Amino acid sequence: MKISLDGQVALVTGGSSGIGAASAKALAQVGAAVVINYHSNAEPAEQLADEIKAAGGRAIAVGADVGDEQAVEQLFAKTIEAFGRLDILVANSGLQRDAPSHEMTLKDWNMVIQTNLTGQFLCARAAIQQFLKQGVNAELSRAAGKIIHMSSVHEVIPWAGHVNYAASKGGVSLMMKTLAQEVAEKRIRINSIAPGAIATAINEDVTGNEEGRRELLKLIPYKRVGDVEDIGNAVVWLASDLSDYVVGTTLFVDGGMCLYPGFQDNG
Ligand code: NAD
Repeated sequence: MKISLDGQVALVTGGSSGIGAASAKALAQVGAAVVINYHSNAEPAEQLADEIKAAGGRAIAVGADVGDEQAVEQLFAKTIEAFGRLDILVANSGLQRDAPSHEMTLKDWNMVIQTNLTGQFLCARAAIQQFLKQGVNAELSRAAGKIIHMSSVHEVIPWAGHVNYAASKGGVSLMMKTLAQEVAEKRIRINSIAPGAIATAINEDVTGNEEGRRELLKLIPYKRVGDVEDIGNAVVWLASDLSDYVVGTTLFVDGGMCLYPGFQDNG
């Protein structure tokens, strides 16, 4: 069975690095035109767009802060201007600002919520508006549009020292389900992916050294740290009609991290 997203247009926020970049590449490989959103550093996003174009695909890089309402509107306007439509949103942008709760500044709390939760809402809202305008084009997909929120295993696993991040991802979980319930009848499919530990810049302090990896593996029953391609593959599946009956679900791609690994030989 071959997945094809030929003729479809995907927007990936935070698409210039890590999971977002792998998702953009994977979507382009199966034929989607891709808008690679970046926050402040254009160069890697433009490089990735060039790489996709060199391989015969269609791609552009567009800067925008997903927590900024006007910037998000412009991001979507540029997407439509470039490719004429939108079929897939991967709301992937996210960041961490860690601190013990009693020392966490309001600035760091707000920044994480603004990007990880409000940013995903603003992008989902803009995508839904566009999908409602377009309706279903049966030649492209059974759905009028697909949204994939990048959540985390921390939408269910509490995470000491990261209360802003865990709260943002817990929020993404119920936001996704509520949006999915609201627009499913319009044939808009909304789901989340909850990655476990995937080696990227966001966790380089842990995944970038032997000791950190060894400790991390204790939390992963499958005994390997995830690759960005593990998530890119899940994105392609959730964006395709192969998952057409999957609505309002979080797909955990975590090597079993949510299986209470501490109970494996204990309790
Ligand atoms: P990353 O740091 O490489 O990617 C995050 C991206 O978000 C970056 O490209 C960054 O520029 C972008 N971004 C940050 N603030 C932004 C803003 N205001 N506007 C637009 N873009 C912004 O790390 P990653 O691991 O690839 O993270 C991608 C997503 O996956 C995040 O939502 C993260 O929470 C989630 N996630 C990652 C892991 C993991 O283990 N790597 C696990 C669970 C969830």
